[in-house]
Amino acid sequence: MRGVSNIVVLTGAGISAESGVPTFRGPGGLWEGHRLEDVCTPEALADDPVLVHRFYDERRAALESVAPNAAHVALARLDRDWPGELLIITQNVDDLHERAGARRMLHMHGELKSSLCAACGDRRALAGMLPPGAVCDVCSAAALRPDIVFFGEMPHDMERIEAAVANCDLFVSIGTSGAVYPAAGFVRTARYYGARTLELNLDPTAGSIFFDETRQGAAGVLVPQWVEEMLA
Ligand code: NAD
Ligand code: ZN
Repeated sequence: MRGVSNIVVLTGAGISAESGVPTFRGPGGLWEGHRLEDVCTPEALADDPVLVHRFYDERRAALESVAPNAAHVALARLDRDWPGELLIITQNVDDLHERAGARRMLHMHGELKSSLCAACGDRRALAGMLPPGAVCDVCSAAALRPDIVFFGEMPHDMERIEAAVANCDLFVSIGTSGAVYPAAGFVRTARYYGARTLELNLDPTAGSIFFDETRQGAAGVLVPQWVEEMLA
């Protein structure tokens, strides 16, 4: 990995699997027993706000009983010790990267511990539960919803992300299925602009063919190994 100074890391649900947070496409293609259409679309929120709010309330509460694993810890160490540029882009809505100590990161698909005002766009830290109809401190609309990017909605921070992906020398994708766009397209953008590309995943993915190198195994093993190589 000589000549690398600017790294972009993309993480997905697989990096949190060993912490006991179920992935999206678990057995049967369900997320915690729910079809994605029922909890992860604007239509679902409009049709059954009580169910959708309760689903994310439960996911938020469940964060209290999980902890970062060796992969989150290794990425936080890379963040602390890497002298060049680094951006960790997570698709995850859990808070395990930041709890491990990562700072140079962003949540492109939102976060469980944040609310979003559907009226004015204000995003702010959230602890506890968020019932439908909660009032926004900024604009007073009864429009607070979970700060989760649903299918068909624009991810957060896309301008910054696209610039970082186009400018990196090394793009590393960890524990993501390569099925959810636009994140699934980042590897091709990075390559187009000349970056080296590495995939770390338990299994081959829909996107594996686009990477220069793929390593198969558990994130808790592969990520610490890779970070060790980078900081050697
Ligand atoms: P996904 O569930 O579609 O795919 C998970 C990927 O991780 C698979 O490719 C699988 O092979 C791999 N994987 C599973 N266990 C692994 C391990 N121990 N080590 C390495 N790889 C492993 O996840 P995705 O691609 O991130 O799907 C995107 C959406 O899922 C995101 O928008 C995210 O918001 C949502 N989601 C997030 C969480 C979370 O925050 N932890 C959990 C479930 C779903
Ligand atoms: Zn508001």
